[in-house]
Amino acid sequence: MDYKKYITVVEDWPKPGIRFKDITTLMDNGPAYKSAVNEIVEFAKDKNVDLIVGPEARGFIVGCPVSYALDIGFAPVRKEGKLPREVIKVAYGLEYGENVLTIHKDAIKPGQRVLITDDLLATGGTIEATINLVEQLGGIVVGCAFFVELSYLDGRDKLDGYDVLTLTSYE
Ligand code: AMP
Repeated sequence: MDYKKYITVVEDWPKPGIRFKDITTLMDNGPAYKSAVNEIVEFAKDKNVDLIVGPEARGFIVGCPVSYALDIGFAPVRKEGKLPREVIKVAYGLEYGENVLTIHKDAIKPGQRVLITDDLLATGGTIEATINLVEQLGGIVVGCAFFVELSYLDGRDKLDGYDVLTLTSYE
């Protein structure tokens, strides 16, 4: 499916120079959303995945329907201060300042096979931090899946050695 037909590109949002890829118009369309989720389900099928992990908030939009389809669980990665129990954390640099992501300490058991999901791969910083959290807890990252890739930001360079699926790419 040509997913670009369903993604809205918003110029200069949230700031000048950014071309924001809005996936809400893909989610709005039942067949397009279902097809995108199904492609990730197929990608996951031969990987013996035990658990899906996704960063807030759009990683939930991608990962939760996949976990439902595969009959497995979903563990959320959230910004600091949002998860109620004991967490581990990782800090990573943004264009300006830094961000801290957390996951519940008991969310993953050592040796569990984890698929990571998010809506979009840009610089790869968010996914690299999510991988770090999963691996700190002893999880095995068997793949990373996204609806969209911004290939000009070279996020894949940070994912060397991992199995990566993206459904559409902007050059
Ligand atoms: P990064 O850590 O640079 O790979 O950025 C990934 C996160 O930022 C993704 O979860 C996206 O939701 C969001 N993001 C970054 N750039 C864009 C963009 N141009 N359009 C839409 N979302 C973006």
